[in-house]
Amino acid sequence: MSQPPGQLTFVAPRRAKPARHLADLNMAARRAAVAELGEKPFRADQLSRHYFSHLTSDLEAMTDLPAAARERLGALLPTLLTPVREMTTDAGTTRKTLWRLFDGALVESVLMRYPDRVTMCVSSQAGCGMNCPFCATGQAGLTRNMSTAEIVEQVVAGARALAQGQIPGGPGRVSNVVFMGMGEPLANYKQVVEAVRRMVEPAPDGLGISARGVTVSTVGLVPAIGKLADEGMPVTLALSLHAPDDELRDTLVPINTRWKVAEVLDAAWAYAAKTKRRVSIEYALIKDINDQEWRADLLGKLVRNKLVHVNLIPLNPTPGSKWTASRPEDERAFVRRLEFHGVPVTVRDTRGREIDGACGQLAAAE
Ligand code: SAH
Repeated sequence: MSQPPGQLTFVAPRRAKPARHLADLNMAARRAAVAELGEKPFRADQLSRHYFSHLTSDLEAMTDLPAAARERLGALLPTLLTPVREMTTDAGTTRKTLWRLFDGALVESVLMRYPDRVTMCVSSQAGCGMNCPFCATGQAGLTRNMSTAEIVEQVVAGARALAQGQIPGGPGRVSNVVFMGMGEPLANYKQVVEAVRRMVEPAPDGLGISARGVTVSTVGLVPAIGKLADEGMPVTLALSLHAPDDELRDTLVPINTRWKVAEVLDAAWAYAAKTKRRVSIEYALIKDINDQEWRADLLGKLVRNKLVHVNLIPLNPTPGSKWTASRPEDERAFVRRLEFHGVPVTVRDTRGREIDGACGQLAAAE
């Protein structure tokens, strides 16, 4: 399935829902669910400790639970993700996993270990309806929204691999989560916000990851950015801008035909004001498309003196796209213009290109 240029899909096709899982529920709802299964509510705490603290879904290992209880509580730990393929690079410190969901839908997640942190890049939808022409995920269209637990399970799988010492560098923990895998997180708003809650709630309610370590990346769904600001979770907002002018952004990020550059930036500044978090502006540098010095200047003028950081991403190649990354000298000039305006800017050290696991390359085919 491929999308005609510019077409946007907001509403995911109706499909059978994945089974209910512990990670879909907050602690109060877990206690109720456990009671429904005929067990004492405190079993919810025990089960949560196994899952969120010890990262186990293996009922046999839960020796503090009587056999009969284990059997009943197993209903809350259905298998949601089945690994299909794993690919690694950077001497094993970057690992992409292709997952099959219960209905055959495919998604990918990427673990990236750095000397000082571990970042899990997760998917929030199977496919994506936002149709950005330079992004491989956008080309395939939207299959469906992922459930809260399907999103959380990607992080738990990474955390488990780290805890078990499967990733070179010794046992470790997930310190950061970025919603930069497949999908537009704010188009699957409720499940994503609930998934963030599971990630940041302290154990055993959740994984206990700092909210500051969580980044939600969006093409710029303005009303949803406003809602997110009111959730009381100081997660970092990343805005995929890619062009400072409406004419070009209309083609690179088709949602711009709904919400213009000025509107989406206003939403970003309001988000920063409310959360006191620096907004990250994502800008993929595409040779001779959006990398001119005058565009750097225009971008600099739009974002200077704001609580902002500009993240330049050398374009990663995607199948069927004629676009390539900017020339090194153009990239340098772009950086210089932004610095001239006093804008904090970095060029992303993009990982995983060798395994089609870098930004915009996740397409999930078997
Ligand atoms: N839908 C959300 C989440 C995906 S994040 C969003 O767009 O923000 C993936 C990031 O990688 C986005 O900033 C996206 O614009 C960027 N990206 C997509 N394709 C890319 C490519 N080919 N090269 C570099 N970055 C790309």
